Amino acid sequence: MAQTAKRTTGDEAPGPGASPDGLQIARRIREAPTSATVQIADEAKMLRREGVDVVDFSAGRAAEATPEHICRVASEALLSGDTHQTMAQGKPEYREACARKLLRENGIEADPQREVVATFGCKNGLTLAVLSTVNPGEEVILEDPGFVSYAPTIRFFGGVPVPVPLRPDQGHRWREEDLRAAVTERTRAILFCSPHNPTGAVHTPEELDAIARVARDHDLYVISDEIYERITWDGRRHTSIATRPGMEGRSITLMGLTKTASMGGWRIGFAYAPPPVVDAMITLQQHLATCVGSFAQAGGEVAFGEEPGPALTGMWKEWEDRCRFMCGELDALPGVSCPMPEGGFYGWADIRGTGETSLELAERLLRDHHVAVVPGSAFGPQGEGYLRITCVKSREDLEKGVQRFKEAIRA
Ligand code: PMP
Repeated sequence: MAQTAKRTTGDEAPGPGASPDGLQIARRIREAPTSATVQIADEAKMLRREGVDVVDFSAGRAAEATPEHICRVASEALLSGDTHQTMAQGKPEYREACARKLLRENGIEADPQREVVATFGCKNGLTLAVLSTVNPGEEVILEDPGFVSYAPTIRFFGGVPVPVPLRPDQGHRWREEDLRAAVTERTRAILFCSPHNPTGAVHTPEELDAIARVARDHDLYVISDEIYERITWDGRRHTSIATRPGMEGRSITLMGLTKTASMGGWRIGFAYAPPPVVDAMITLQQHLATCVGSFAQAGGEVAFGEEPGPALTGMWKEWEDRCRFMCGELDALPGVSCPMPEGGFYGWADIRGTGETSLELAERLLRDHHVAVVPGSAFGPQGEGYLRITCVKSREDLEKGVQRFKEAIRA
Protein backbone atom coordinates (compact mmCIF):
# COMPACT_ATOMS: atom_id res chain seq x y z
CA MET A 1 0.00 0.00 0.00
CA ALA A 2 2.94 2.35 0.57
CA GLN A 3 3.47 2.73 -3.15
CA THR A 4 -0.24 3.12 -3.84
CA ALA A 5 -0.56 5.81 -1.31
CA LYS A 6 2.47 7.69 -2.59
CA ARG A 7 1.19 7.68 -6.14
CA THR A 8 -2.33 8.68 -5.25
CA THR A 9 -1.71 11.53 -2.89
CA GLY A 10 0.16 13.93 -5.15
CA ASP A 11 0.84 14.70 -8.75
CA GLU A 12 4.56 14.92 -8.22
CA ALA A 13 4.89 11.15 -8.02
CA PRO A 14 4.92 9.39 -11.40
CA GLY A 15 2.58 6.62 -12.52
CA PRO A 16 3.85 3.72 -14.67
CA GLY A 17 7.36 4.32 -16.05
CA ALA A 18 8.95 3.22 -19.31
CA SER A 19 8.13 -0.17 -20.79
CA PRO A 20 10.75 -2.94 -20.18
CA ASP A 21 12.44 -2.42 -23.54
CA GLY A 22 12.84 1.29 -22.92
CA LEU A 23 10.13 2.50 -25.32
CA GLN A 24 8.27 5.41 -23.90
CA ILE A 25 5.02 5.45 -22.00
CA ALA A 26 3.25 8.72 -22.81
CA ARG A 27 3.70 11.59 -20.37
CA ARG A 28 -0.05 11.95 -19.83
CA ILE A 29 -0.10 8.56 -18.11
CA ARG A 30 3.36 8.69 -16.54
CA GLU A 31 2.30 11.82 -14.75
CA ALA A 32 -1.10 10.48 -13.69
CA PRO A 33 -1.79 9.14 -10.22
CA THR A 34 -3.42 5.73 -10.07
CA SER A 35 -7.04 5.53 -8.90
CA ALA A 36 -6.71 5.14 -5.13
CA THR A 37 -10.11 3.55 -4.74
CA VAL A 38 -9.69 0.97 -7.49
CA GLN A 39 -6.09 0.20 -6.56
CA ILE A 40 -6.73 -0.30 -2.86
CA ALA A 41 -9.69 -2.55 -3.70
CA ASP A 42 -7.44 -4.56 -6.05
CA GLU A 43 -4.81 -4.86 -3.31
CA ALA A 44 -7.44 -6.04 -0.84
CA LYS A 45 -8.53 -8.67 -3.40
CA MET A 46 -4.92 -9.82 -3.83
CA LEU A 47 -4.45 -10.13 -0.06
CA ARG A 48 -7.66 -12.18 0.11
CA ARG A 49 -6.35 -14.49 -2.60
CA GLU A 50 -3.24 -14.96 -0.46
CA GLY A 51 -5.47 -16.10 2.39
CA VAL A 52 -5.54 -12.86 4.42
CA ASP A 53 -9.01 -12.18 5.83
CA VAL A 54 -9.29 -8.56 4.67
CA VAL A 55 -12.49 -6.60 5.27
CA ASP A 56 -12.70 -4.24 2.33
CA PHE A 57 -14.40 -0.86 2.82
CA SER A 58 -12.41 0.81 0.04
CA ALA A 59 -14.14 0.88 -3.37
CA GLY A 60 -17.78 1.96 -3.62
CA ARG A 61 -19.17 -1.49 -4.30
CA ALA A 62 -22.12 -2.91 -2.40
CA ALA A 63 -22.25 -6.49 -1.17
CA GLU A 64 -25.41 -7.17 -3.19
CA ALA A 65 -25.38 -8.54 -6.73
CA THR A 66 -27.66 -6.95 -9.34
CA PRO A 67 -31.34 -7.81 -8.65
CA GLU A 68 -32.39 -10.99 -10.42
CA HIS A 69 -35.15 -9.52 -12.60
CA ILE A 70 -32.59 -7.24 -14.27
CA CYS A 71 -30.12 -10.10 -14.82
CA ARG A 72 -32.85 -12.25 -16.31
CA VAL A 73 -33.76 -9.68 -18.94
CA ALA A 74 -30.12 -9.29 -19.98
CA SER A 75 -29.50 -13.03 -20.16
CA GLU A 76 -32.68 -13.51 -22.20
CA ALA A 77 -31.48 -10.75 -24.52
CA LEU A 78 -28.18 -12.56 -25.00
CA LEU A 79 -29.85 -15.91 -25.63
CA SER A 80 -32.26 -14.41 -28.12
CA GLY A 81 -29.44 -13.06 -30.26
CA ASP A 82 -29.10 -9.50 -28.94
CA THR A 83 -25.35 -9.84 -29.39
CA HIS A 84 -24.54 -7.22 -32.01
CA GLN A 85 -23.44 -3.61 -31.87
CA THR A 86 -26.19 -1.09 -31.30
CA MET A 87 -26.43 2.49 -32.53
CA ALA A 88 -23.45 4.50 -31.19
CA GLN A 89 -25.91 6.66 -29.29
CA GLY A 90 -27.45 3.55 -27.71
CA LYS A 91 -30.59 1.56 -28.55
CA PRO A 92 -33.68 3.75 -29.01
CA GLU A 93 -35.47 1.54 -26.43
CA TYR A 94 -32.74 2.13 -23.85
CA ARG A 95 -32.74 5.88 -24.45
CA GLU A 96 -36.54 5.94 -24.17
CA ALA A 97 -36.23 4.13 -20.81
CA CYS A 98 -33.69 6.76 -19.68
CA ALA A 99 -36.10 9.52 -20.73
CA ARG A 100 -38.94 7.86 -18.79
CA LYS A 101 -36.72 7.71 -15.73
CA LEU A 102 -35.72 11.37 -16.08
CA LEU A 103 -39.36 12.41 -16.27
CA ARG A 104 -40.56 10.15 -13.45
CA GLU A 105 -37.77 10.73 -10.95
CA ASN A 106 -36.06 13.98 -11.90
CA GLY A 107 -38.78 16.13 -13.44
CA ILE A 108 -36.82 16.40 -16.69
CA GLU A 109 -38.50 16.17 -20.08
CA ALA A 110 -35.75 14.72 -22.25
CA ASP A 111 -35.92 13.98 -25.95
CA PRO A 112 -34.44 10.47 -26.24
CA GLN A 113 -33.49 11.07 -29.89
CA ARG A 114 -31.58 14.29 -29.40
CA GLU A 115 -30.64 14.63 -25.74
CA VAL A 116 -29.61 11.19 -24.43
CA VAL A 117 -26.49 9.05 -25.09
CA ALA A 118 -25.79 5.59 -23.64
CA THR A 119 -22.46 5.49 -21.79
CA PHE A 120 -20.23 2.90 -20.16
CA GLY A 121 -21.16 4.12 -16.70
CA CYS A 122 -20.50 7.62 -15.47
CA LYS A 123 -16.74 7.58 -16.05
CA ASN A 124 -17.33 7.20 -19.78
CA GLY A 125 -19.97 9.93 -19.56
CA LEU A 126 -17.36 12.18 -18.00
CA THR A 127 -14.85 11.38 -20.75
CA LEU A 128 -17.40 12.23 -23.43
CA ALA A 129 -18.44 15.41 -21.61
CA VAL A 130 -14.88 16.71 -21.24
CA LEU A 131 -13.86 15.78 -24.79
CA SER A 132 -16.99 17.44 -26.16
CA THR A 133 -16.63 20.76 -24.35
CA VAL A 134 -13.06 21.47 -23.20
CA ASN A 135 -10.14 22.36 -25.48
CA PRO A 136 -6.53 21.65 -24.43
CA GLY A 137 -5.36 24.36 -22.04
CA GLU A 138 -8.88 25.20 -20.87
CA GLU A 139 -9.96 24.89 -17.26
CA VAL A 140 -12.56 22.89 -15.40
CA ILE A 141 -13.51 23.81 -11.84
CA LEU A 142 -13.95 20.82 -9.55
CA GLU A 143 -14.37 19.93 -5.90
CA ASP A 144 -11.62 19.41 -3.33
CA PRO A 145 -12.15 16.82 -1.94
CA GLY A 146 -13.68 15.19 -5.00
CA PHE A 147 -13.93 11.92 -6.89
CA VAL A 148 -10.43 10.57 -7.62
CA SER A 149 -10.88 10.22 -11.38
CA TYR A 150 -12.02 13.75 -12.23
CA ALA A 151 -8.65 15.54 -12.31
CA PRO A 152 -6.74 12.74 -14.13
CA THR A 153 -9.51 12.46 -16.75
CA ILE A 154 -9.44 16.19 -17.42
CA ARG A 155 -5.63 16.14 -17.68
CA PHE A 156 -5.61 13.14 -20.06
CA PHE A 157 -7.38 15.38 -22.58
CA GLY A 158 -5.17 18.39 -22.07
CA GLY A 159 -7.59 20.24 -19.78
CA VAL A 160 -6.58 21.92 -16.56
CA PRO A 161 -8.40 20.91 -13.36
CA VAL A 162 -8.94 23.80 -10.95
CA PRO A 163 -9.86 22.42 -7.51
CA VAL A 164 -11.94 24.71 -5.28
CA PRO A 165 -12.15 23.72 -1.60
CA LEU A 166 -15.41 22.51 -0.12
CA ARG A 167 -16.02 24.06 3.29
CA PRO A 168 -16.43 21.48 6.12
CA ASP A 169 -17.98 24.22 8.27
CA GLN A 170 -20.64 24.64 5.54
CA GLY A 171 -21.47 20.95 5.32
CA HIS A 172 -18.84 20.33 2.62
CA ARG A 173 -20.26 22.82 0.12
CA TRP A 174 -18.60 25.44 -2.03
CA ARG A 175 -18.79 29.08 -1.07
CA GLU A 176 -20.15 31.00 -4.04
CA GLU A 177 -17.39 33.62 -3.75
CA ASP A 178 -14.70 30.89 -3.86
CA LEU A 179 -16.27 29.55 -7.05
CA ARG A 180 -16.42 32.99 -8.61
CA ALA A 181 -12.80 33.69 -7.69
CA ALA A 182 -11.69 30.50 -9.46
CA VAL A 183 -13.22 31.47 -12.83
CA THR A 184 -10.78 32.75 -15.47
CA GLU A 185 -11.01 33.47 -19.19
CA ARG A 186 -10.05 29.85 -19.79
CA THR A 187 -12.75 28.27 -17.61
CA ARG A 188 -15.20 26.17 -19.62
CA ALA A 189 -17.05 24.06 -17.08
CA ILE A 190 -17.88 23.44 -13.45
CA LEU A 191 -17.84 19.74 -12.56
CA PHE A 192 -19.50 18.56 -9.37
CA CYS A 193 -21.22 15.61 -7.78
CA SER A 194 -24.37 15.43 -5.64
CA PRO A 195 -24.95 13.31 -3.61
CA HIS A 196 -21.27 13.79 -3.11
CA ASN A 197 -18.46 11.29 -3.13
CA PRO A 198 -16.73 11.33 -0.65
CA THR A 199 -18.51 13.64 1.81
CA GLY A 200 -22.15 12.55 1.29
CA ALA A 201 -23.43 16.13 0.86
CA VAL A 202 -26.75 16.44 -1.02
CA HIS A 203 -27.28 19.86 -2.56
CA THR A 204 -30.55 21.67 -1.96
CA PRO A 205 -32.16 23.55 -4.88
CA GLU A 206 -30.89 26.83 -3.35
CA GLU A 207 -27.33 25.51 -3.18
CA LEU A 208 -27.58 24.37 -6.79
CA ASP A 209 -28.78 27.86 -7.70
CA ALA A 210 -25.52 29.32 -6.39
CA ILE A 211 -23.54 27.07 -8.76
CA ALA A 212 -26.02 27.85 -11.55
CA ARG A 213 -25.56 31.62 -11.04
CA VAL A 214 -21.80 31.34 -11.48
CA ALA A 215 -22.22 29.15 -14.56
CA ARG A 216 -24.74 31.54 -16.16
CA ASP A 217 -22.80 34.69 -15.30
CA HIS A 218 -19.65 33.31 -16.93
CA ASP A 219 -21.32 31.26 -19.67
CA LEU A 220 -20.00 27.92 -18.47
CA TYR A 221 -21.16 24.35 -18.82
CA VAL A 222 -22.02 22.45 -15.67
CA ILE A 223 -21.09 18.76 -15.68
CA SER A 224 -23.24 17.19 -13.00
CA ASP A 225 -22.31 13.69 -11.81
CA GLU A 226 -25.51 12.26 -10.36
CA ILE A 227 -24.45 8.64 -9.98
CA TYR A 228 -25.78 8.44 -6.38
CA GLU A 229 -29.01 10.36 -7.05
CA ARG A 230 -31.42 7.57 -6.11
CA ILE A 231 -30.01 7.17 -2.60
CA THR A 232 -30.61 10.10 -0.26
CA TRP A 233 -31.43 9.76 3.43
CA ASP A 234 -33.53 11.34 6.17
CA GLY A 235 -36.18 12.70 3.82
CA ARG A 236 -33.76 14.57 1.57
CA ARG A 237 -34.46 14.56 -2.14
CA HIS A 238 -32.07 14.80 -5.03
CA THR A 239 -32.46 17.74 -7.41
CA SER A 240 -30.85 17.83 -10.84
CA ILE A 241 -29.18 21.15 -11.62
CA ALA A 242 -30.57 20.85 -15.17
CA THR A 243 -34.02 21.63 -13.72
CA ARG A 244 -32.92 24.96 -12.24
CA PRO A 245 -33.77 28.16 -14.15
CA GLY A 246 -31.62 28.81 -17.20
CA MET A 247 -29.62 25.60 -16.82
CA GLU A 248 -31.16 23.30 -19.40
CA GLY A 249 -28.95 24.45 -22.26
CA ARG A 250 -25.69 24.29 -20.29
CA SER A 251 -26.08 21.20 -18.09
CA ILE A 252 -24.53 17.84 -18.87
CA THR A 253 -26.12 15.33 -16.51
CA LEU A 254 -24.36 12.01 -15.92
CA MET A 255 -26.30 9.09 -14.51
CA GLY A 256 -25.53 5.41 -14.09
CA LEU A 257 -26.54 2.12 -12.52
CA THR A 258 -23.18 1.15 -11.05
CA LYS A 259 -24.12 2.15 -7.53
CA THR A 260 -27.88 2.29 -7.13
CA ALA A 261 -28.67 -0.98 -8.93
CA SER A 262 -25.39 -2.70 -7.98
CA MET A 263 -24.56 -2.98 -11.69
CA GLY A 264 -20.92 -1.91 -11.55
CA GLY A 265 -19.71 -4.78 -13.73
CA TRP A 266 -22.21 -4.00 -16.47
CA ARG A 267 -20.69 -0.61 -17.30
CA ILE A 268 -23.95 1.14 -18.05
CA GLY A 269 -25.21 4.68 -17.69
CA PHE A 270 -26.20 7.65 -19.79
CA ALA A 271 -25.62 11.33 -20.38
CA TYR A 272 -28.44 13.84 -20.74
CA ALA A 273 -27.16 16.95 -22.51
CA PRO A 274 -28.11 19.69 -24.99
CA PRO A 275 -28.38 18.38 -28.60
CA PRO A 276 -25.05 19.89 -29.86
CA VAL A 277 -23.20 18.18 -27.00
CA VAL A 278 -25.05 14.92 -27.66
CA ASP A 279 -24.04 15.12 -31.34
CA ALA A 280 -20.40 15.56 -30.28
CA MET A 281 -20.67 12.66 -27.85
CA ILE A 282 -22.10 10.37 -30.55
CA THR A 283 -19.15 11.11 -32.85
CA LEU A 284 -16.76 10.39 -29.99
CA GLN A 285 -18.54 7.17 -29.06
CA GLN A 286 -18.47 6.04 -32.73
CA HIS A 287 -14.70 6.30 -32.77
CA LEU A 288 -13.77 5.42 -29.20
CA ALA A 289 -16.05 2.52 -28.43
CA THR A 290 -18.68 1.97 -31.18
CA CYS A 291 -21.42 1.50 -28.58
CA VAL A 292 -22.25 0.30 -25.08
CA GLY A 293 -22.79 -3.49 -24.78
CA SER A 294 -26.13 -4.55 -26.24
CA PHE A 295 -27.24 -6.80 -23.36
CA ALA A 296 -26.10 -4.25 -20.76
CA GLN A 297 -28.49 -1.81 -22.43
CA ALA A 298 -31.26 -4.45 -22.22
CA GLY A 299 -30.71 -4.72 -18.44
CA GLY A 300 -30.45 -0.95 -18.15
CA GLU A 301 -33.78 -0.58 -19.92
CA VAL A 302 -35.46 -2.37 -17.00
CA ALA A 303 -33.38 -0.79 -14.24
CA PHE A 304 -34.07 2.76 -15.46
CA GLY A 305 -37.29 2.31 -17.42
CA GLU A 306 -39.43 0.69 -14.73
CA GLU A 307 -40.45 2.39 -11.54
CA PRO A 308 -38.09 1.00 -8.85
CA GLY A 309 -39.77 -2.03 -7.24
CA PRO A 310 -39.06 -3.74 -3.92
CA ALA A 311 -35.87 -5.41 -5.20
CA LEU A 312 -34.29 -1.94 -5.49
CA THR A 313 -36.16 0.05 -2.86
CA GLY A 314 -35.65 -2.75 -0.30
CA MET A 315 -31.93 -2.74 -1.04
CA TRP A 316 -31.74 1.05 -0.60
CA LYS A 317 -33.55 0.83 2.74
CA GLU A 318 -31.12 -1.85 3.88
CA TRP A 319 -28.21 0.38 2.80
CA GLU A 320 -29.59 3.25 4.83
CA ASP A 321 -29.65 0.99 7.91
CA ARG A 322 -26.11 -0.21 7.27
CA CYS A 323 -24.84 3.36 6.81
CA ARG A 324 -26.53 4.34 10.07
CA PHE A 325 -25.02 1.38 11.91
CA MET A 326 -21.52 1.87 10.53
CA CYS A 327 -21.40 5.64 10.98
CA GLY A 328 -22.84 5.34 14.49
CA GLU A 329 -20.13 2.85 15.49
CA LEU A 330 -17.33 4.91 13.94
CA ASP A 331 -18.64 8.10 15.48
CA ALA A 332 -18.37 6.52 18.93
CA LEU A 333 -14.62 5.86 18.56
CA PRO A 334 -12.27 8.20 20.43
CA GLY A 335 -10.97 10.99 18.20
CA VAL A 336 -13.36 10.09 15.36
CA SER A 337 -16.44 11.91 14.11
CA CYS A 338 -18.55 10.23 11.44
CA PRO A 339 -22.02 11.68 10.83
CA MET A 340 -24.61 9.84 8.78
CA PRO A 341 -24.16 10.96 5.15
CA GLU A 342 -26.99 13.01 3.61
CA GLY A 343 -26.89 10.68 0.61
CA GLY A 344 -24.72 8.02 -1.01
CA PHE A 345 -23.21 5.20 0.97
CA TYR A 346 -19.89 6.41 2.33
CA GLY A 347 -18.90 7.28 5.84
CA TRP A 348 -16.64 10.35 5.73
CA ALA A 349 -14.89 9.96 9.05
CA ASP A 350 -13.06 12.92 10.51
CA ILE A 351 -10.05 11.28 12.18
CA ARG A 352 -8.11 14.43 13.09
CA GLY A 353 -8.60 13.66 16.77
CA THR A 354 -6.58 10.45 16.48
CA GLY A 355 -3.31 12.32 15.86
CA GLU A 356 -2.53 10.26 12.75
CA THR A 357 -2.67 11.38 9.13
CA SER A 358 -5.25 9.74 6.90
CA LEU A 359 -2.53 7.82 5.12
CA GLU A 360 -0.86 6.64 8.34
CA LEU A 361 -4.12 5.39 9.75
CA ALA A 362 -5.26 3.78 6.46
CA GLU A 363 -1.92 2.00 6.13
CA ARG A 364 -1.97 0.82 9.75
CA LEU A 365 -5.54 -0.40 9.37
CA LEU A 366 -4.65 -2.51 6.35
CA ARG A 367 -1.26 -3.75 7.58
CA ASP A 368 -2.07 -4.53 11.21
CA HIS A 369 -5.85 -4.99 11.24
CA HIS A 370 -6.66 -6.10 7.69
CA VAL A 371 -9.22 -3.39 7.09
CA ALA A 372 -9.09 -1.56 3.74
CA VAL A 373 -10.32 2.07 3.63
CA VAL A 374 -9.44 5.04 1.43
CA PRO A 375 -7.32 7.82 2.96
CA GLY A 376 -9.07 11.16 2.55
CA SER A 377 -5.94 12.69 1.02
CA ALA A 378 -6.57 10.59 -2.10
CA PHE A 379 -9.55 12.87 -2.83
CA GLY A 380 -7.50 16.08 -2.71
CA PRO A 381 -5.59 18.15 -0.12
CA GLN A 382 -8.82 19.10 1.67
CA GLY A 383 -9.52 15.41 2.25
CA GLU A 384 -6.60 15.17 4.66
CA GLY A 385 -7.78 14.25 8.15
CA TYR A 386 -10.58 12.00 6.86
CA LEU A 387 -11.11 8.37 5.87
CA ARG A 388 -13.71 7.21 3.38
CA ILE A 389 -15.49 4.03 4.39
CA THR A 390 -17.96 2.20 2.14
CA CYS A 391 -20.84 1.25 4.43
CA VAL A 392 -22.77 -1.13 2.16
CA LYS A 393 -20.75 -4.25 2.73
CA SER A 394 -22.42 -7.35 4.25
CA ARG A 395 -23.65 -7.12 7.85
CA GLU A 396 -21.02 -9.72 8.75
CA ASP A 397 -18.25 -7.57 7.24
CA LEU A 398 -19.56 -4.49 9.03
CA GLU A 399 -19.55 -6.27 12.43
CA LYS A 400 -16.07 -7.65 11.81
CA GLY A 401 -14.81 -4.31 10.55
CA VAL A 402 -16.17 -2.42 13.54
CA GLN A 403 -14.32 -4.75 15.93
CA ARG A 404 -11.10 -4.16 14.03
CA PHE A 405 -11.60 -0.38 13.97
CA LYS A 406 -12.08 -0.52 17.73
CA GLU A 407 -8.85 -2.45 18.20
CA ALA A 408 -6.95 -0.12 15.88
CA ILE A 409 -8.18 3.16 17.31
CA ARG A 410 -7.83 2.02 20.91
CA ALA A 411 -4.26 0.78 20.28
N1 PMP B 1 -18.57 9.20 -10.32
C1 PMP B 1 -18.49 9.04 -9.00
C2 PMP B 1 -18.71 10.20 -8.11
C3 PMP B 1 -18.19 7.79 -8.45
O1 PMP B 1 -18.11 7.65 -7.13
C4 PMP B 1 -17.96 6.70 -9.31
C5 PMP B 1 -17.62 5.32 -8.80
N2 PMP B 1 -16.84 5.28 -7.67
C6 PMP B 1 -18.03 6.92 -10.68
C7 PMP B 1 -18.35 8.18 -11.16
C8 PMP B 1 -17.78 5.82 -11.64
O2 PMP B 1 -18.98 5.40 -12.16
P1 PMP B 1 -19.14 4.25 -13.23
O3 PMP B 1 -18.76 2.96 -12.57
O4 PMP B 1 -20.60 4.31 -13.54
O5 PMP B 1 -18.27 4.57 -14.38
